[in-house]
Amino acid sequence: MSDSPANFPEPRTFDEPVPLVRLGQGDYTRDIYPADLGGAESRSTKSVLTFSALNTFRNCARKYKHRYVDHLQPREKPENLSFGSVIHGGLERWYRLTGDANRLWKVLDFIDAQFPLRGSDPVQKDRWHRARAMLVGYAARYPTENFAVVEIEKVFHGEIRNPDTGRPSQTFVMSGKADGIVRLDGELYLLEHKTAGSIDANYLDKLWTDTQIALYSYYLRQVGYPIVGVLYNILLKTRLKQREGETQEEYEARRAELAAKNKSGKSTAQRQLPETDEEFQARLAEWYAKPEAFHRERIYLSEDRLAMLQEEVWEITQQYLDARRRGKWLLNTSNCFAYDRPCEYLPYCQSNFNPNVRDNLFEIAPPHEELAVGAASDAETTF
Ligand code: SF4
Repeated sequence: MSDSPANFPEPRTFDEPVPLVRLGQGDYTRDIYPADLGGAESRSTKSVLTFSALNTFRNCARKYKHRYVDHLQPREKPENLSFGSVIHGGLERWYRLTGDANRLWKVLDFIDAQFPLRGSDPVQKDRWHRARAMLVGYAARYPTENFAVVEIEKVFHGEIRNPDTGRPSQTFVMSGKADGIVRLDGELYLLEHKTAGSIDANYLDKLWTDTQIALYSYYLRQVGYPIVGVLYNILLKTRLKQREGETQEEYEARRAELAAKNKSGKSTAQRQLPETDEEFQARLAEWYAKPEAFHRERIYLSEDRLAMLQEEVWEITQQYLDARRRGKWLLNTSNCFAYDRPCEYLPYCQSNFNPNVRDNLFEIAPPHEELAVGAASDAETTF
């Protein structure tokens, strides 16, 4: 089947910068603007294919339809999304400002600006505490590096080619943005930041299956960066919480309990007061001083894997075009609990697509990952 461009509208022009795509993976999103791809003039009229959309379609075609065709977005967003984005933003500044004596302060200014309501909103305050502590700990752990930074937030784009003919797709162009490229021991590596709840053998094993990184490496090689592997920069998320202190009733109950256990029938227990911001930051700093709070994992790319990617990407685009043409979006129920959590569309699928469930739990919002305003229609953002 061909991937005819006939179904795609003419490109539009813009008066102000609009993200061409917003990439997302796991807990992180990042925008790509037309200028990142060399300016509006040089931008292709093809639809931008991002890894997140491609991966969504590969995992479950129905999920792709919910998100990218019907534009359904859960009203409640996972906490991890915004926290991961803030940490990535802080790390971007940290590495862009290498050589600046005030770079940690500038990173912390950035963190402060991300949580303007921390004085009144407990959720913002909690994230602010943890983001600051994580990056202060990071700066202490890595004051110098054993690698040289070559690129930060490197944007790339490239053709998706038919593996049989070598001809580029007339419909799609691949695009992405890598956290960084570094030179380590004389070779180039992708630098990939990750925040994680825990780092165990399973977590590290899963890094080998990271298709996004293989795909990025494939395209970066094509534009002149001979990437040989990936340096995963993993920052652990703490579960520490700021102590709220006891109410008078809680204190009296605890004191009575302790007194009952004491032969004298008395207790010297003091009422526990709320933990101050300074005390909590000190406790977080102690936690982030532990060696296991940060981890680096170097992984070499598999040449066999890279060779298969071109074919995989092409096949997925063909399957997508077929699904769209026939209006068949299959449910992949084996993916409903991937990553040990339910898919955000589970209630809707379980309800057999009840419109009341849809309206209660979801809002209509164009997919962040593909604001492909230059190539795709308003009605249906394609890959
Ligand atoms: S709940 Fe399952 S079938 Fe429905 S969209 Fe999610 S992964 Fe697909």
